[in-house]
Amino acid sequence: MLAERFSRAAALWTALLPPPPPMIDGWSATISRHPSLRKLVYRRGSRRMKRIALTFDDGPSAEFTPEVLEILERYEARATFFLLGRNVELFPDLARRIVSKGHAIGNHSQSHPNLKKLRPEQVREEISTAQAVISSATGVRPTLFRAPFGGLNRTVVNESGAAGCAVIQWSLSPRDWATPTDRRIARRVVSRAKNGAIVLLHDAGSRSTFEDRANTVRALPSIIKSLRAQGFAFVTVPELLTCDQRTVV
Ligand SMILES: [Zn+2]
Repeated sequence: MLAERFSRAAALWTALLPPPPPMIDGWSATISRHPSLRKLVYRRGSRRMKRIALTFDDGPSAEFTPEVLEILERYEARATFFLLGRNVELFPDLARRIVSKGHAIGNHSQSHPNLKKLRPEQVREEISTAQAVISSATGVRPTLFRAPFGGLNRTVVNESGAAGCAVIQWSLSPRDWATPTDRRIARRVVSRAKNGAIVLLHDAGSRSTFEDRANTVRALPSIIKSLRAQGFAFVTVPELLTCDQRTVV
């Protein structure tokens, strides 16, 4: 009875949204704890293929983004960067470099508020401003959105859809934001990795602030080497979900 009501509600919201990105095998990647958001929020890709998507939130940053890009290039791994509009305004060249190296980019809002606490028009403003800033800096209009702090409600999902973005959360977080050691970050990722996992990492900040991601950068080579030895391929989120990233210029 309850399940029926939830699925009716989910069908209604689905009808209000643009269609989700196409899936390679018709298999839904979505596992949402909130039944009403099921099929609207992607937390992982298909379990059928040994592929994994590393994602980096909150950048670009002058200190860590170039180091992350250098490591990804050295190991020929692709990743996805969920960019903050305000940081793209500060470092547009870095945003362009991310794209030029073959990585995917997504919208992570303009200023990183908890969108669940904002009014609908403020949510729209946060998402649309970042869309405009990222598009004009990189020539790529994001089709992916990740909510700051993972804060999702119906308004956030609706506004993300209205901006042309699928909501992408994650299935594996080593909680690198709490600055555990690099060995612990690597161990957490490697021991919990599964086919289709979306891994949440961060590349913002600097060594002189509480947002010190040096341990994330140090953990990265070991994560890539260990998982590759297990046969994992590193792909972008659009590749993992097989949706398109449109170029606007
Ligand atoms: Zn964030």
